Amino acid sequence: MFGRFAPRKSDNTRYYEVLGVTKNASQDELKKAYKKAAIKNHPDKGGDPEKFKELAQAYEVLSDSEKREIYDQYGEDALKEGMGGGGGAHNPFDIFEQFVDSFGGGSSRGRRQKHGENVVQTLKVSLEDLYNGTSKKLSLSRKILCPKCRGKGSKSGTSGRCYGCQGTGMKVTTRQIGPGMIQQMQHPCSECRGSGEVISDKDRCPLCKGSKVTLEKKLLDVNVEKGMQHGQKIVFQGQADEAPDTVTGDVVFVLQLKEHPKYKRKHDDLYVEHTLFLTEALCGFQFALTHLDGRQLLIKSNPGEVIKPGQSKAINDEGMPHHQRPFMKGRLYIHFNVEFPDSGVLSPDHCKQLAAVLPMRPRTQMTDMELDECEETTLLDVNMEEEMRRKQQQESYEEEEDAAPRVQCAQQ
Ligand SMILES: [Zn+2]
Ligand SMILES: [Zn+2]
Repeated sequence: MFGRFAPRKSDNTRYYEVLGVTKNASQDELKKAYKKAAIKNHPDKGGDPEKFKELAQAYEVLSDSEKREIYDQYGEDALKEGMGGGGGAHNPFDIFEQFVDSFGGGSSRGRRQKHGENVVQTLKVSLEDLYNGTSKKLSLSRKILCPKCRGKGSKSGTSGRCYGCQGTGMKVTTRQIGPGMIQQMQHPCSECRGSGEVISDKDRCPLCKGSKVTLEKKLLDVNVEKGMQHGQKIVFQGQADEAPDTVTGDVVFVLQLKEHPKYKRKHDDLYVEHTLFLTEALCGFQFALTHLDGRQLLIKSNPGEVIKPGQSKAINDEGMPHHQRPFMKGRLYIHFNVEFPDSGVLSPDHCKQLAAVLPMRPRTQMTDMELDECEETTLLDVNMEEEMRRKQQQESYEEEEDAAPRVQCAQQ
């Protein structure tokens, strides 16, 4: 819908030469010449694709009376400029097939079909879903080719080519706006609303009202298999919206794993945290861990075993099942935290008892002299995470100031 000026005059005979016709060739002569040459040079039959493209380009312009007029008067460049890409913008195969159709040659080798868009949706799943496998029923509303007219839009199964745009769906209007200057506008044909065809009121399909498609509600059974991964796709081929002369796209579900409150997954392994009391860490423990399928696993220490803070243990074959080999499973890692008693819980008596039992580092006795030489200090309680966060904030603030102090000021 741009208007462009094309004041220059350029070559306006090449298209005629390409088709091998004279400048005053009739539409019929053009058709015949194009048909003969296009069949001979069709790449499917070993022809030269460049030549085939050139033929289609030439024919596309000369078969359109408006374009031909512009071409005759101002040449190739005027068309290219006026139409943003012009003659070369269309697929030469489409032009050829449109031509074969219009000639009543039938479309025995089928039209070159468009590809419909895929519908991509995320599907939230829990870790339990991926561990056990599940199936989810999802209802889908989509367009299908009208079953009554089989996507033709008419009772007779035929539709007329729109006269207004000669079936292209687009119209080009030109306007002389000065000597040697022409303005050209391209816009969807108003008569057929861009479809390129017309169906008479009488012949219109009563079910789809000529729109060729109807809505269908469908239940999809989405099978989430054991061991599938976050981000994995489940594809329903050809289940997206149908449209005439279009290869139907797919419905694609992308699995999105919801975070689990207890378990984390990495590949085929599972990770879980468990906090022991200091006494358990020192003297032994046992507890039940509920797995993702509801089984209770008994987790216990070996006699005499001491668990240190941050230590991990693993259980074989209690991780995630491998996808498509669910009998194979990864490992389950347990990361132990140890909770120490709070300050003040232990009385001096308790401490004496503990000191008697627990190993102590031999205390190096300091002389009064040595103590005198030391400086007194005060130990403060700190939350290290908080400290780091504060430092980072400070740094980034300073960086911002360095980088763009003016913008900062302007925004405030
Ligand atoms: Zn039209
Ligand atoms: Zn219909």
